[in-house]
Amino acid sequence: MCGEQSGGRMTFPTETVSVLRCPACGRNNSRQWKTLNGWRLEKCTVCGMIYVSPRPSEASLLAAYALPRDEYDNFFHTEYLDTDCFLGGERVWIAEKAREQLGRLHRILQRKGKIFELGCGGGQFLEIAAAEGWETAGVDPGDWVRSSEKDERLGIQRCSLFEARLEAGSFDAVFMASVLEHIAEPERYVVYLQRLLKNGGLLFISGLPNVQSLTILLGIDRWIGGHPPLHLLFFSRRSARTMLERLGFADISIRSYGIPETLLELIFRRAGERVRNDYVQHVYRRSLVGAGIRALRHALYGVFDITGMGSVLEISCFKPPVE
Ligand SMILES: [Zn+2]
Repeated sequence: MCGEQSGGRMTFPTETVSVLRCPACGRNNSRQWKTLNGWRLEKCTVCGMIYVSPRPSEASLLAAYALPRDEYDNFFHTEYLDTDCFLGGERVWIAEKAREQLGRLHRILQRKGKIFELGCGGGQFLEIAAAEGWETAGVDPGDWVRSSEKDERLGIQRCSLFEARLEAGSFDAVFMASVLEHIAEPERYVVYLQRLLKNGGLLFISGLPNVQSLTILLGIDRWIGGHPPLHLLFFSRRSARTMLERLGFADISIRSYGIPETLLELIFRRAGERVRNDYVQHVYRRSLVGAGIRALRHALYGVFDITGMGSVLEISCFKPPVE
């Protein structure tokens, strides 16, 4: 699963598009905030949303996401430790996270039924959902994770959201993790996802980087620094709420949590060298140090949830019961 880090940063060789309105509030009042990796970040003066503009076109992004894994890694080259990768190329870690997310989603929705995942990758989350009694469907343009048997069984289609065969008004829940920040046209996607939901259905967004996190304020977070053009949108609780309200969602609830990537990076980065995955996993999972880190993590999550300063946002919101 893990991509090799290599060489210099690759520039995006494809066409770009200027973003004329704020993706969150829809207004046209922004100023240049920063330039990162040669990409300009605009900040909306109305709602605080930060976004890449000009950004890669939708067509070039879809083409990039559908590249074979090694070319994809090269295309979106970033210089950080991918903990999902190094803790979790490992299946146990991915499964643990997916089970937690699904558990929270289920508690909020208070029923099971039909679930759709946007950006479902290899289908780890949907696999667990299916095992827990959900009827599943998913879409992912990525091809390197394709498994015909599994795709068939879990209802996964390898194409863009808009090309997929999906029935409007048929899903109890729509889930996406670490996806929304990559999307060039969030409004178009979210409105489409809303259409897929039944009335009263739940949209659950997980792993959305939070620009107001403590680690970004301290300047030690990787979310902003390394990510354009892989990440195009940089949400805060406020701008995320602004967008979802504007698009007609109700009962919006947003929590923030997490510093694991940054923390683990600080701990496991040794003089610019990355330690071996199995060593990190051993320390994190089986040693006393790991137990300490996990305990600290849980305590900090509690504080971050209250202050809204966690690294990532988790959002639940409902399509209103009657249209
Ligand atoms: Zn705005």
